[in-house]
Amino acid sequence: MSMEGVRGEDLEKTYGYVWDKYTGEKLDQVFAFSEDYKEFISKCKTERECIAEFIRLAEEKGYRDLATLIEEKEVLKPGDKVYANNAGKTLALFVIGSQPMEKGLRIIGAHVDSPRLDLKQNPLYEDSGLALFKTHYYGGVKKYQWVTLPLAIHGVVVKKDGSLVDVVIGEDEDDPVVGITDLLIHLAADQMDKKISKAIEGEDLNVSLGSIPVGDKEDKARVKKNILRLLNEKYGIDEEDFVSAELEVVPAGKAKDYGLDRSMVMGYGHDDRVCAYTSFKALMDMENPDKTCVALMVDKEEIGSVGATGMTSRFFENTMAEIMNLTGDYSELKLRRCLANSKMLSGDVSVAHDPNHPSVTEPRNTAYLGKGMTFNKYTGVRGKSGSNDANPEFMAQLRAIMEKHDVMWQTSELGKVDQGGGGTIAYILAEYGMDVIDCGVALHNMHAPWEVASKADIYETMRGYRAFLLEA
Ligand code: MN
Ligand code: MN
Repeated sequence: MSMEGVRGEDLEKTYGYVWDKYTGEKLDQVFAFSEDYKEFISKCKTERECIAEFIRLAEEKGYRDLATLIEEKEVLKPGDKVYANNAGKTLALFVIGSQPMEKGLRIIGAHVDSPRLDLKQNPLYEDSGLALFKTHYYGGVKKYQWVTLPLAIHGVVVKKDGSLVDVVIGEDEDDPVVGITDLLIHLAADQMDKKISKAIEGEDLNVSLGSIPVGDKEDKARVKKNILRLLNEKYGIDEEDFVSAELEVVPAGKAKDYGLDRSMVMGYGHDDRVCAYTSFKALMDMENPDKTCVALMVDKEEIGSVGATGMTSRFFENTMAEIMNLTGDYSELKLRRCLANSKMLSGDVSVAHDPNHPSVTEPRNTAYLGKGMTFNKYTGVRGKSGSNDANPEFMAQLRAIMEKHDVMWQTSELGKVDQGGGGTIAYILAEYGMDVIDCGVALHNMHAPWEVASKADIYETMRGYRAFLLEA
């Protein structure tokens, strides 16, 4: 089935290719935007790395730390730029609007955690002349995708004295990489007969670290000893420090142009750094808005938005109370009105129709690469369960905004009915009574080590987010 016309002649204009819209310098901008984005996701592969980089970039643009403003009893005025940092893993950025807060906010919320393999609490061991790390996967992964790949280790180790050691291994040109073994095909007869979900199991995801023994030949675990020596030399850490570490095993290497025409980006963590990055860039363009504009980057979405840094924590609500207090206009009632009157784009990735796997999406109601920002009115599973089903009034308003700003967009469902599904942070913010809809960039290979997004969609999503912040 061809893509043109699938949705009927009347929808041709809305669902055309973004590529047809941009020529010359405008087309150069589309590509240039993805150059910066590629650099961002190549460098920032953990939630902490993303938040630290966003703070650095925001401070360059005049954003100030809310914690400092509270301490100094600063008064916030329209046009002021503020950020609130929660444990280095969640970030809320604000540009204060000229209207009272109780009129509501314009929020774009995305998550900065991505599927990966976390080191266990007691990860290091030696077996058969190899030193290895035990891992526990984080988020939804197809385990067989993580073997025989160059992998890197990113994260932090917190020592007993509270000092924080940043760890990045496997990204510099001269760095070694690590990896997880798979069976040779010659001896894989039993494995090949297994269900794909059982071919590589969770406890098989052990990371190879080294093979040189040191010290006395009578000693045990001499290879492990050498690895500990190397880690101590470079990072000053001991084996027991792993217990207070947050180390993540991620694909090693940079994001790359994908396709002979360089129309796409292959990279680790598009889900959901592509929406975090585009919403961040959109907010950075906001000066003196009428309503207060917010970009929210949260952690733990991939495991249910739980914990102090996940969307279900009170961090955002508490932060809003602090912000309103600094504007001299706080009351519990005004805070509630502020949240209920807000509008939100829940920025998250969606599925793009894949010609290699066409059976899981429904052609009239799926996104396609290169056709613009994707709106998911609802997500969920089995009869939309667990989804935030956006109001049509809100969708209508967004249609008008996108048309006014000439943003190309499409709608999607996360797969065919009863094929599977998923969720986002949308329903959590909707609990305040605010209008929320999911929208973002549609991907190929979602949750795989190397995901794929269209540069046209990335650019158009940034423009869509900007239009929302200006008008909603
Ligand atoms: Mn996501
Ligand atoms: Mn995800």
